[in-house]
Amino acid sequence: MADVQMADAETFAFQAEINQLLSLIINTFYSNKEIFLRELISNSSDALDKIRFEGLTDKSKLDAQPELFIRIVPDKVNKTLSIIDSGIGMTKADLVNNLGTIARSGTKEFMEALQAGADVSMIGQFGVGFYSAYLVAERVIVTTKHNDDEQYIWESQAGGSFTVTRDVNGEQLGRGTKITLFLKEDQLEYLEERRIKDLVKKHSEFISYPIYLWTEKTTEKEISDDEDDEPKKEEEGAIEEVDEEKETKSKKKKIKEVSHEWELINKQKPIWLRKPEEITKEEYAAFYKSLTNDWEEHLAVKHFSVEGQLEFKAILFVPKRAPFDLFDTRKKMNNIKLYVRRVFIMDNCEELIPEYLGFVKGVVDSDDLPLNISRETLQQNKILKVIRKNLVKKCIEMFNEIAENKEDYNKFYEAFSKNLKLGIHEDSQNRAKLADLLRYHSTKSGDELTSLKDYVTRMKEGQKDIYYITGESKKAVENSPFLERLKKKGYEVLYMVDAIDEYAVGQLKEYDGKKLVSATKEGLKLDDESEEEKKKKEEKKKSFENLCKIIKDILGDKVEKVVVSDRIVDSPCCLVTGEYGWTANMERIMKAQALRDSSMGSYMSSKKTMEINPDNGIMEELRKRAEADKNDKSVKDLVLLLFETALLTSGFSLEEPNTFAARIHRMLKLGLSIDEEETGGDDADMPALEEDATEESKMEEVD
Ligand code: ADP
Repeated sequence: MADVQMADAETFAFQAEINQLLSLIINTFYSNKEIFLRELISNSSDALDKIRFEGLTDKSKLDAQPELFIRIVPDKVNKTLSIIDSGIGMTKADLVNNLGTIARSGTKEFMEALQAGADVSMIGQFGVGFYSAYLVAERVIVTTKHNDDEQYIWESQAGGSFTVTRDVNGEQLGRGTKITLFLKEDQLEYLEERRIKDLVKKHSEFISYPIYLWTEKTTEKEISDDEDDEPKKEEEGAIEEVDEEKETKSKKKKIKEVSHEWELINKQKPIWLRKPEEITKEEYAAFYKSLTNDWEEHLAVKHFSVEGQLEFKAILFVPKRAPFDLFDTRKKMNNIKLYVRRVFIMDNCEELIPEYLGFVKGVVDSDDLPLNISRETLQQNKILKVIRKNLVKKCIEMFNEIAENKEDYNKFYEAFSKNLKLGIHEDSQNRAKLADLLRYHSTKSGDELTSLKDYVTRMKEGQKDIYYITGESKKAVENSPFLERLKKKGYEVLYMVDAIDEYAVGQLKEYDGKKLVSATKEGLKLDDESEEEKKKKEEKKKSFENLCKIIKDILGDKVEKVVVSDRIVDSPCCLVTGEYGWTANMERIMKAQALRDSSMGSYMSSKKTMEINPDNGIMEELRKRAEADKNDKSVKDLVLLLFETALLTSGFSLEEPNTFAARIHRMLKLGLSIDEEETGGDDADMPALEEDATEESKMEEVD
């Protein structure tokens, strides 16, 4: 080992968060320390993937060390455990940046997770797995050689800083990285062969590079006396005399030899090449964990091969939870590893799976793609397009399989429903199939969620459309005035309360040949019971036509038009939006998007139609007053108040909450018979309310 205390060592301070993480790792008690080995082997495997990929296009990159391997060396004398790989290695800059000065986005999240009681084995998911070395080591030395730089040594005992030194005299690696752990006194179990073998079997069995363990072997050997003097070739250690027996011609001895050798301790036959029926659930789980660094098992798996014109094998997994950064736009999620004829080509192959399925993890091994395929040529590749189509199909099949178990599906849906909805928005080809996977609360579903399919089976006779309402939360839409008529008719209404529902339903438009109709938009036509009732309604409508005009005059540009409603039963009025414009909910969502193009807003929003309820007492009174005196000031004030209240109950936001509040306060004063006089400075839109007796009764109605 090189002497690291050399004069030209440069000292660096750990970045603050990394430093915190290190103290947390060192000073907290964790029972699950063994995962450090999995993390380091996984880093080695990644580094090997990288050099193998570079070697595909430029063979000379492998020259310094053609063999790709991981080696583990326990050294009982020095109490060190070393993990050596012939991967891509690190340049000096890599060492400084990757191992200490630049924090990963996951550093803070991982510490928060830890403090919230998460298990330390989650470390790999947060991209800080290297530091798990300090679970078992008090000092770590990383020796590394990258093709583009000299060999360097990184060393740290944590404690705030690390050093980096050029390694001139040490044993040269050729290419790759050697991590030496100086084990803590109570962690010496990791020097035992048995323990290491078990750990590799448990956590790293499916690493696709050979993992060799430097093992000690004791063998008994018979040798003849004359051979005894010959120098031993590779053997070392003590040779003990055990037995001696005489034979007829030459003397023979039995001796015990202690020798060392590299023992291969993982199977590397990729699991996807095996037959699905021969693989146990545990094996899939072990493979899933090694692939993803997840500490939990997968929720579902799909293992299949496609044969014929095009051949490939794949294993796809659905995790149990969404990762902490599922919709982090800076990070393109994609977790399918691409192999070509068993050779790893790349992670995150964007062309393999659409973005909305970015949470699905797995491997694809193609027989047809060229080995030297590059990211640039992937885009035009026809084979890849066919693979992608198949993968999407299989994913949807897998989701349907999950749906067979309600508990599992709830878990799945909670974690990934946004992805499904994104799929509905983006993937027109699979829209119908994805729609089968949607679940919503509804006016009839109680605490459970319902599928569109189940909704259809519950549709009332004569019901042609599927009704839904969008809004901010279940609570906010449950008692919406828009639902009154529909509920009364016994029509079920789906609650779509996810922001993305607006986008998804806007694309979906229909299910099973039935139109999806928004309860809050114009054009909600409900068939009426009898001719007679229709007639009655028509008459009533007519009698309110005049009031509609008056209201429109008062409200001006605030509404597109005012009509007599078909959909409300109890409330006095509501505001609906145009069939093709935004709903109130969409307006809310769009307003919340700070970076959106503001020109859209003007024509997409603000097309509100006020619907009034002719059966409501307030409206009836309003009609009477308006007809008696068109210029009745209380009519104007009440209309404005009704409009503003309707904005709220219909899910819009108030542009001038203060004016609204002032109006309410005035009503309160009236109700409490407080003198109007001290209320000055109201704007011209709000003439004082007449102080006659009927105002008070009106107050009660508004209430
Ligand atoms: P992650 O591996 O999730 O990125 P780590 O904390 O485990 O996070 O490692 C940080 C970085 O250090 C890696 O991304 C990689 O660039 C580098 N690294 C770690 N181990 C090795 C290795 N054996 N060979 C080459 N680079 C490595």
